[in-house]
Amino acid sequence: KLDIATKPSRFSAISALTQHIQKLALQTASLMQNQKQLVNAVSHELRTPLARLKFALAMLAPKDPQQVHAMNQDVVEMELLIDEMLSYARLEFSEREMTKEHVNLSELVQEQIDKSAATSRKQITQAVEPNIIVNGNEHYLARVLQNLLQNAEKYGDKQIFIELRALHQGEVILSICDDGPGIPIDKRNNVFSPFTRLDTSRSKETGGFGLGLAIVAKILGWHSGKCWIEDSQFGGAAFTVTLPTIQKLKT
Ligand code: ADP
Repeated sequence: KLDIATKPSRFSAISALTQHIQKLALQTASLMQNQKQLVNAVSHELRTPLARLKFALAMLAPKDPQQVHAMNQDVVEMELLIDEMLSYARLEFSEREMTKEHVNLSELVQEQIDKSAATSRKQITQAVEPNIIVNGNEHYLARVLQNLLQNAEKYGDKQIFIELRALHQGEVILSICDDGPGIPIDKRNNVFSPFTRLDTSRSKETGGFGLGLAIVAKILGWHSGKCWIEDSQFGGAAFTVTLPTIQKLKT
């Protein structure tokens, strides 16, 4: 216990406290550095044997193409899981390195819709208000949009509706609605936790590891944003995101 109330001991107590805080800061920095090193090491340790396995399978392919194809699928699946897990683990220390600037969210949303539409098998409709500016990181905000659009594509049936609208109170609201099975009310918070997947048989067919929404929640947290789930007008899920806005440019 440090006593900084009485004068004689005040300076030595403050100096001890400063040293203590400096030591803690150094320990924390080294821990974060170690975590980064750990993630990179794990990444390398896991990928190298998988690459070797893939090479060995390619050599065996002419002998038993069917069997090798099935095994190759397993390896590809494992690679995907490693990528997802590492990308989630990296997020833990990415916030420190993340820079923010003015981002035209309307353009970013439009860009991501156009990308999805290029490969989508759904009917996509949209109502995107132009020139909505937020303070954020374009790369990570794009990730949020990709994850939500990919889910609408994976779990939806025939149609997706995307709306972006500025609210009066310096906030923007984004809704991504689909016509899939929706999410039961009592599961709506759970799906934002890592590795949570509903109805595994259904989810299995669609692929994925239950990290997409955990990533969305983390990135939105960095941007003082929120995300929640409602029923969509088509009977599926409506993912609604709010973010603080900077300003609206004059058109
Ligand atoms: P993944 O899609 O890889 O499983 P997510 O974290 O993106 O991981 O989603 C978690 C779970 O939430 C999914 O497995 C699925 O059960 C459910 N889910 C997510 N988006 C939707 C949606 N649009 N409609 C219905 N269920 C969804």
